[in-house]
Amino acid sequence: MQSVCILGSTGSIGESTLDVIAQHPDVFSVYALSAHSRIQKLAAQAARHGARVVIVPDAASARQFAEVWGGGPGAMPEIRVGAQALADTAADAGVTTVMAAIVGAAGLPSAMAAARAGKRVLLANKEALVAAGNLFMQAVRDNHAELLPIDSEHNAIFQCLPHGDRAAAPTQPARGVRRLLLTASGGPFRTTPIEQLALVTPEQACAHPNWSMGRKISVDSATMLNKGLEVIEAHWLFAMPADRIEVLIHPQSVVHSLVEYEDGSVLAQLGQPDMRTPIAYGLGFPDRINSGVGLLDLAAAGRLDFEAPDMGRFPCLHLSFGALRAGQGACITLNAANEVAVARFLDGRIAFNAIPATIEACLNALSAEHACLPASLEDILALDQEARIKAEAFCRQFAA
Ligand code: NDP
Repeated sequence: MQSVCILGSTGSIGESTLDVIAQHPDVFSVYALSAHSRIQKLAAQAARHGARVVIVPDAASARQFAEVWGGGPGAMPEIRVGAQALADTAADAGVTTVMAAIVGAAGLPSAMAAARAGKRVLLANKEALVAAGNLFMQAVRDNHAELLPIDSEHNAIFQCLPHGDRAAAPTQPARGVRRLLLTASGGPFRTTPIEQLALVTPEQACAHPNWSMGRKISVDSATMLNKGLEVIEAHWLFAMPADRIEVLIHPQSVVHSLVEYEDGSVLAQLGQPDMRTPIAYGLGFPDRINSGVGLLDLAAAGRLDFEAPDMGRFPCLHLSFGALRAGQGACITLNAANEVAVARFLDGRIAFNAIPATIEACLNALSAEHACLPASLEDILALDQEARIKAEAFCRQFAA
């Protein structure tokens, strides 16, 4: 029996995880759930899935949870409060498996705590690896944690790697692998005239053609910064240098990624664009369990298209490769600046094309010394904060 802690249960990945778990009550039980703003939804999830613990951000949310629960079914779960409670619960002895599905760098400390406690870590939160790849992978190795990538592209690559080389945290590329090919749908603006990108609305940016996701990652998909974060994530997960990771536009989102071998073989993983497949893979590993996802009908799909990405249309992709080559400090800055800029875009305060402009300005303002590898989690969080302050200032400038 796996006892699962879902960090970010009220989000899109959290909900899909609960959906898969509910299909296998004999294999998984829900130990803990967490929310940041949707407390009512958290209470409904806790009641339905019999959670023993819930984690909320502050005392007011704890009171709200207790009120919403009222005379709810069964005993009220234990309510834990604050960011430290997220990390403590991820490391709790009662937990075997942690789904790290908080959005943004806010998910880093709890994901790290799960790795340090040697848990099975299902990693959806890509920002953790972007900000702290070296430290995170070292924590996985040192504490014999089991790391299973949930991002569909990395999950696909993991599935296509040679069986014996699926080490939790490799220090060198898998034997015989030449390149990793990450597919990308191109998002909602793949064919929008570039001059119109300044005018697109948050609703248009969040209307992803294939995937149903949270708002932040939906905007990241529209700028393709999401793919940039995934390139950095792939670098750390698979110990692969930047020049052996390629991005391929594939509008249908059926081929989730590919691994190219020295002999010319290319292995791909295909499926419906539904996150329950990689989530079920991570939960069930090494077994395969039902995810509830429908069959892939290739005859109905008819065709699968591929094209090279246009770096002029998607400057965020170019900036991400640059950050990866520059060092961990640049990756932290890229991620923090993007989180701020996306929030301001969603608030309606800056235009869509001010997102790459903000990121670029922050990267340009980064000193060579800071672009290098920060030593500790505290250094990483400090640089993250510094980058956020700069990004807020640039956003104000671009909003004028
Ligand atoms: P959502 O926005 O749908 O959900 C985010 C979750 O994190 C919610 O539970 C939210 O709580 C919680 N949260 C938000 N801010 C904080 C904070 N500061 N502290 C603690 N908890 C917080 O995001 P997604 O589910 O779409 O994405 C989650 C992660 O998974 C992201 O890193 C994303 O890049 C990655 N991912 C997502 C995919 C997808 O298909 N959605 C695919 C691959 C990766 P509340 O809702 O209560 O405010």
